[in-house]
Amino acid sequence: MSSTSDKRRDHSCISCGISISGTDAAKFDCPECGTLIYRCSKCRKQSNLYECPDCGFTGP
Ligand SMILES: [Zn+2]
Ligand SMILES: [Zn+2]
Repeated sequence: MSSTSDKRRDHSCISCGISISGTDAAKFDCPECGTLIYRCSKCRKQSNLYECPDCGFTGP
């Protein structure tokens, strides 16, 4: 419900930001810095761009 400043440990989709807990999401390492990135199946299907929160790398 509340999406205001929180430091939850829930994983969220890097592209659309929804919580992916319990969903069939993809998880992979940033090719640049190795940060773990999560992306929901929907964004994966649509090939949405993602941006690494650490190094700013963007990719499909
Ligand atoms: Zn998504
Ligand atoms: Zn990165």
